[in-house]
Amino acid sequence: MIRGLLKGLAKTLQQMFRPPITIQYPEERREVSPRFRGRPQLVTDESGNAKCVACCLCATICPPQAISIEPAEGEMHEKYPASFVIDLSRCIYCGFCQEACPKGAIRLSQEYELAQYQRKELVYTKERLMEGN
Ligand code: SF4
Ligand code: SF4
Repeated sequence: MIRGLLKGLAKTLQQMFRPPITIQYPEERREVSPRFRGRPQLVTDESGNAKCVACCLCATICPPQAISIEPAEGEMHEKYPASFVIDLSRCIYCGFCQEACPKGAIRLSQEYELAQYQRKELVYTKERLMEGN
């Protein structure tokens, strides 16, 4: 029993002189893996408009049905989303929307600080989804 106790104390002492592996978040941050899937983001073109053509493939494939789109048509018969909403309280960050999109108009960004006090703040509108391009 004493032997086990001494062994445990030796291990503790050994760890005490090693550099800490923890960091002082949020002042310090670790690099995010390029494979990390964070907040979905609507990609914009050179003029700052969403590349989305409101085909609704992403909304159809989304497993928790977190995406709602209202398609509209412009003067030149081009399709665009009059409204594009993602409820992040339902999103499971699977990346299916990004894979299904034929226009590369939606991707999963590296943003991970998404905590909110109210559930309604997790409902991202088109304008919010276009942030960070
Ligand atoms: S990442 Fe997955 S769950 Fe989230 S919006 Fe895209 S398809 Fe839906
Ligand atoms: S799949 Fe792409 S183009 Fe189609 S509605 Fe979704 S984001 Fe827009």
